[in-house]
Amino acid sequence: MDKKIFLEQMKLFENNYITLFSNIDNLEKKQNIGMTKNKICRFCGLDETKTTFNTIAHAIPECLGNKTIICLDECDICNKEFSENIEVHLDKITLPYRTINLIKGKKKIPSYKTQNQKARIDIEDVQKRFFKIEAREDSDFIKLNEKENSINIEYDLQSHIPSAAYKALVKMSLSVMPNSELENFTIMNSWIQEKNHSKSFMNPLKVLMTFIPGINPLKKTIIFLFKRHSSDNKYPECTFVIAFGNIMYQIVVPTNNEIKQVQSTKTILKFLSPFEINWVLGEPVHNILDWSQNTILKGHKQYMEFSYDEMKKLDPKSIKL
Ligand SMILES: [Zn+2]
Repeated sequence: MDKKIFLEQMKLFENNYITLFSNIDNLEKKQNIGMTKNKICRFCGLDETKTTFNTIAHAIPECLGNKTIICLDECDICNKEFSENIEVHLDKITLPYRTINLIKGKKKIPSYKTQNQKARIDIEDVQKRFFKIEAREDSDFIKLNEKENSINIEYDLQSHIPSAAYKALVKMSLSVMPNSELENFTIMNSWIQEKNHSKSFMNPLKVLMTFIPGINPLKKTIIFLFKRHSSDNKYPECTFVIAFGNIMYQIVVPTNNEIKQVQSTKTILKFLSPFEINWVLGEPVHNILDWSQNTILKGHKQYMEFSYDEMKKLDPKSIKL
């Protein structure tokens, strides 16, 4: 991206938004959100007499590489429900990226296997950033392009509900939302707790995705929650950004007022990463994903391209599948 355009876009973003929460200043720092005593769950509203707060609730799921931002006022029941009903879907969408970017979840860096069991990706050496991609000859998983020195990988995502994955992103934004702001998002709060994913307040559910070339260029999971401070209401009041590995997602989190406004169209101001300028591995790629589907999406394909400097033949006996 041209530097002038980048700076103008950043300026426009700054003129319209302030940061409500971010971990960008210190990615290692432990941040506890909520009170340590007299807890009231920020989602269901129950206090310690009616629910429990024993589980460590990660504001951003551990599978996305977060170990540091903890939500003290998320009760055990909500924690379990979010994990089983919404986060599991985001987990499936992001799995291939997490493997490729060596992002350690609760226990380890996940391996990736195709549904037909004919191909897989495993981490061989974290320090050296080696991973092993294995595919049987009768699999379409890998296509070699020797002219371009590249390999193309076609991976199929595990079955998931896209709108539930969107809810998982909204849940993260509400986890780090200052208490004083939560009253503006009660409709979204109810929506993410709703197990029936067919109800929707926004259509389409757009996810602005940035793909940054390279393996784990971001190194740590970074989040931003922004609130509009300008009076320019063509822009949404609240937007949430999460970046991990080589992926950045940005969504709109509508306020109660915005949901009540019939037929309001908003322009999402894109938040840009510094990788837009002179990134050695190439320009980031921007896509707008549609996660509106509220039923199970099966066999959804995604593609990734890797370039290589050198190709070596290995002894087939050393390869097992
Ligand atoms: Zn709760």
